[in-house]
Amino acid sequence: MHEVANTPRGRGILACIQCGRCSGSCPVARLISEHNPRRLMEMIILGSRDEILHTQLPWYCLSCFTCLDRCPQGGDVAEVMFAIRNIAVREKNMPDGFAAQAKNLIETGRVVTSTASMVRKREEIGLSKEHSTATEDVQKILKKTGFSKIIASK
Ligand code: SF4
Ligand code: SF4
Repeated sequence: MHEVANTPRGRGILACIQCGRCSGSCPVARLISEHNPRRLMEMIILGSRDEILHTQLPWYCLSCFTCLDRCPQGGDVAEVMFAIRNIAVREKNMPDGFAAQAKNLIETGRVVTSTASMVRKREEIGLSKEHSTATEDVQKILKKTGFSKIIASK
């Protein structure tokens, strides 16, 4: 728990009283049973480090911050999710789908690249085939922040 609490984004873990309101109000939890914010907080409190680093749970979060609005303790679960993901990435435990998106971002400046149906739809509504992306600017930011290096070593 201290490892998470000592990160800039992880302090919310210290406030959790396991009431479950975050899980009850989370829009993702309604659709994906594995995504249970209260359970993640519990695993952190119990120190289940390996289990946490090998679960997809923190990766489903959409960062909508509904859980923060509903938490009676003001515990920022979404930020704790970021803290866990940061630790997981450093320990090379990033799920493959997210690693692929990170590589797309480095190569194209976009997380999701256009599919054939997206291009067709754009043309149908009178847009250019590709929307413009400041790829080089994005790449500079990713390099300066160390993101590219972390992903390259994955
Ligand atoms: S709503 Fe807040 S206190 Fe309740 S389980 Fe979630 S994080 Fe913990
Ligand atoms: S921020 Fe994440 S965990 Fe919190 S309610 Fe939104 S999707 Fe659920």
